[in-house]
Amino acid sequence: MSEYNKAEADFFLVALKEEARTILWKIHANVDPEIVIKSVINDLQALAPRDEGETRTDEEIWSAIREKLLEAAYATRPQCVRCGDCCTTGSPTLMHEDIELFRKDILKPSEIVTIRKGEPVYSSIEEKPGTAEQEMLKVREIPGEKTCTFYRKLDQSCSIYEHRPQQCRKQECWNPQMISTIEDNAKLDRSALLSVIPALWEIIERHEEKCSHEEFARVMARLGATKGQTVDSVLDVLKYDMHVREFISERFGLAEDTMKFFFGRPLADFLGLYGLQLEKREDGYFLTSSD
Ligand code: SF4
Ligand code: SF4
Repeated sequence: MSEYNKAEADFFLVALKEEARTILWKIHANVDPEIVIKSVINDLQALAPRDEGETRTDEEIWSAIREKLLEAAYATRPQCVRCGDCCTTGSPTLMHEDIELFRKDILKPSEIVTIRKGEPVYSSIEEKPGTAEQEMLKVREIPGEKTCTFYRKLDQSCSIYEHRPQQCRKQECWNPQMISTIEDNAKLDRSALLSVIPALWEIIERHEEKCSHEEFARVMARLGATKGQTVDSVLDVLKYDMHVREFISERFGLAEDTMKFFFGRPLADFLGLYGLQLEKREDGYFLTSSD
């Protein structure tokens, strides 16, 4: 090995140890980084930059190395240490078994948000924006954060730990194969909870007919295509969405905040995606630029 290559190899080993140390710190594993490196040394050697004919970028090489180190680091800590990291990076989506939590009053409408079919969402698994393929109920997150509403920052614990939803129970961060996904048919939706109240369910279905995300996307696309000529049809959808919330809140004596469970997020919240906002003036509602 030339002096130059030896210096490069030494630098690589130092960088490797530093990566292992950082990964272990992140997953709260109190282990010597060298033990982790040794456990996968053959795999790491195979991933190391080649002296000749290397076609991978540095970023690709280090990304593959990090993945291998993470796997090895988790192998030293194959259980939940209740660090709370998963509670601060997204709240759980509810499954059918979680219906019991509503019956026992552990979960309440004010703590849940309905993600309606077609709603613009960000997939943390695919790491890209998309739309919800089906309806889901999610535990709310602290506004402006991805932290679950049940997470207690002070003592880094779950306030409903004994009764936490199924997705939290199945969460195994140390098992990369077991990424916490829920089969579509296992997801809980509003009909399972609310269709037993016909007076309310009828209104929810009517709201879905008039104010679905598909319908909203359609009227917004038409607004663009007609250069604003069809603004009234957009305002009609937005006003229906607002009024139904006010009406149900009053008629059933429900807190306004719970409407995100009964009808999903207000459609007006999505206007920003089109560079617009809804303004209420003395003479009615208007769409204005949000810039
Ligand atoms: S499952 Fe969540 S709380 Fe448990 S160790 Fe993993 S990230 Fe931490
Ligand atoms: S319900 Fe509890 S365990 Fe589940 S994400 Fe929220 S705080 Fe964490």
